[in-house]
Amino acid sequence: MEMKKNDRFVLKIEDMGENGEGIGRLDGYIWFVKDAVIGDVIEAGVTKMKKQYGFARLIRVIEPSEYRVQEKCPSARRCGGCQIQAVDYQEQLRLKERKVYNNLKRIGGLSNLLLPDRDETTEKMMEQTAEQRAKETQESQEGNTRDFSVKEERRAETVRMEPIIGMEHPWRYRNKAQFPFGRNKDGKIVTGFYAGRTHDIVEQEDCLLGVEENREILSIIRNFMEEYKIEPYDEETHRGLVRHVLIRKGFQTGELMVCLVINGRKLPGQQVFTERLLEIPGMTSISLNVNQEKTNVILGKELINLWGEGHITDYIGAVQYRISPLSFYQVNPVQTERLYGTALEYADLTGNETVWDLYCGIGTISLFLAQKAKQVYGVEIVPQAIDDARENARLNHMENVEFFVGKAEEVLPEQYERNQIYADVIVVDPPRKGCDEKCLETIVKMAPKRVVYVSCNSSTLARDVKYLEERGYETERVRCVDMFPHSGHVECVVLMSKVQK
Ligand code: SAH
Repeated sequence: MEMKKNDRFVLKIEDMGENGEGIGRLDGYIWFVKDAVIGDVIEAGVTKMKKQYGFARLIRVIEPSEYRVQEKCPSARRCGGCQIQAVDYQEQLRLKERKVYNNLKRIGGLSNLLLPDRDETTEKMMEQTAEQRAKETQESQEGNTRDFSVKEERRAETVRMEPIIGMEHPWRYRNKAQFPFGRNKDGKIVTGFYAGRTHDIVEQEDCLLGVEENREILSIIRNFMEEYKIEPYDEETHRGLVRHVLIRKGFQTGELMVCLVINGRKLPGQQVFTERLLEIPGMTSISLNVNQEKTNVILGKELINLWGEGHITDYIGAVQYRISPLSFYQVNPVQTERLYGTALEYADLTGNETVWDLYCGIGTISLFLAQKAKQVYGVEIVPQAIDDARENARLNHMENVEFFVGKAEEVLPEQYERNQIYADVIVVDPPRKGCDEKCLETIVKMAPKRVVYVSCNSSTLARDVKYLEERGYETERVRCVDMFPHSGHVECVVLMSKVQK
């Protein structure tokens, strides 16, 4: 490729990457272009080139894509939180579905997978591109070819993905927000977002993914700070008091939580601070979090309670959860219910089953499953999460759940070897890196009837699916859920069943 920095060229954007960047090809060379949308024809300017691929910036859109829409948020490009806000929401959903589909086919070797039922022609088109890509990868990975064809023979039936579950209103879905405080050029106290990876605050009071109450809460805090001459924290000098505010809302209960993160242990005028916040309907918990470290970690360990019991309550489905400022809780409760509902549906429980929930976090899925299972065991590496999980089980009077602290790849083999534990169904919801091989190996030994895989990263999902497919499991159902509209991320649930011999 005869090009150098700042050279300009015309490019057709044909795909979009994990972080929302547009992807186009020119003479077999791949270009990544931020802010370009699938379907756009653009003028691009070279920023950086590697051997196989390069980065370019969007100079201008020559022919806008039919999927390009006006961003709703004025800060969308600078904030970086919404990477694909300029893409029509229905197309966002299809993009996400295609990403999972391509990975399961290419990396997972699921040659019998079909995209959800939709317009025949577009589907054929997409099938073809995926087929081509699968072929290319296959050819490039020597030695894998035989493996592939064996599977092709064995598989007669096809598996059609179920349509992705999107949101009817893909805005204001986040129940949690964290805003940093600082001063702008004119010396005014501001809140907003850190721009990209920098530490400049982009002024933004009303993120369209967050709840409406955020704006009023921020304005109360800002005015209070001006009145009481309270300094926002400055990272460079490690001076100033107020670092961040954490706001959470229970979508089912309407309860609000405000936790102010301070570089100190006392807030001047904290009585007034509390009184003013209490004017907002639903205010249930007000606290301070002490963070005196030179760090970009937002929350410190210590909490000082100013009002309420130190937590709010919320429901996902019929299950109640207690949420404190430090607990983990899924940020999109509406889609979480649908995601875990799908997992529960795939688990197909009748009330007699023993179920293991690996990577269980605060037990959200475990408690969901416990409503329909005989016994549920959860495994999670973070001890505080397990404390919350046990607390939530008590809160819901569920006695058929038990939790283990430890790595799934250690706890499961240990339990299996020592106690010959058994499972009808195993659910896994691992972090981005997927399951450890030792964990998968033990799952195969335990031979549950069904494995339900909940994933936030379809490449590692596909790798693990392939492992299980080669060891007696068959993929039966696949469904994506859009937990993070306007970002490139997608969650997916896969049901694998033990092949009957
Ligand atoms: N289902 C959970 C969220 C899962 S996120 C919920 O709804 O709350 C993945 C979880 O896996 C995180 O809580 C993380 O702490 C945990 N984790 C990461 N590595 C692990 C390991 N090796 N073994 C067990 N848990 C692990």
